[in-house]
Amino acid sequence: MKAFIFASCSLLLLTACSVTQKSITNVKFAKNPVVAHRGAFKMNGFPENSIASLREAIRLKCTGSEFDVRMTADDSLIINHDPHYNKLEIEKTSYVELSQYKLSNGEKLPTLREYLLAGLADNKLTRLVLEIKPSGISKERGKLVAERSVALVKELKAALMTVYISFDYGILKKVIEIDPAASTQYLNGEKSPEQLKADGIAGADYHFSVFKKNPGWIEQAKKYKLILNAWTVNDAETMDWLLKSGFDFITTNEPELLLEKTARSVK
Ligand code: MG
Repeated sequence: MKAFIFASCSLLLLTACSVTQKSITNVKFAKNPVVAHRGAFKMNGFPENSIASLREAIRLKCTGSEFDVRMTADDSLIINHDPHYNKLEIEKTSYVELSQYKLSNGEKLPTLREYLLAGLADNKLTRLVLEIKPSGISKERGKLVAERSVALVKELKAALMTVYISFDYGILKKVIEIDPAASTQYLNGEKSPEQLKADGIAGADYHFSVFKKNPGWIEQAKKYKLILNAWTVNDAETMDWLLKSGFDFITTNEPELLLEKTARSVK
């Protein structure tokens, strides 16, 4: 009997391990550097940061789709770039009040939960590039947004699909403190790759002009095995320069153009 129980437990354990293993090896990100900025919104006239723009980035097989997370007055995490939505200050307005107003395509204002679930559905190619916006109320509230975002990503088993980005260094440090395995990229542009490496940040995602001013940072980032990303690159000439410079990611409002370029360079 004991042997039977032992064998059954071992089998259960093995099954559990193989399930975990499967979910790890299942993720195969698209081998292009294209991160759709606020989703692939422009060509089809979708609203920025809408679920339609996220699904379009996934349909295009972009390697990433970026979106912005903010927290309402009653602590709901929602997706919106600006601190205001329909002239209402997000941090000082409840989710119910905000969500009375639809996006221009008729979608309701997405919560982070809805957005992540839409991004996880039938998708193993496109990273979910989650920007945590700093709070206008306090640094501490920004860190709370980080804590809640990481907790939700974990709950939905989306950790392997998610990259965290922020202009706020404290927010990224908070993310790493909670989940040391989290992939993070800093946006603000004033920290050297050496500094990012020392602080455990995985990548530099800077405005392309920062890399033009500090070309040595590209080699330094490669030396430290940091991820190189640049925003928001919409012209062909800058795309070509970044591709030639070996950037891992390029964040753009023109994902179709960049996909066409990278497909051509592979041939
Ligand atoms: Mg953003």
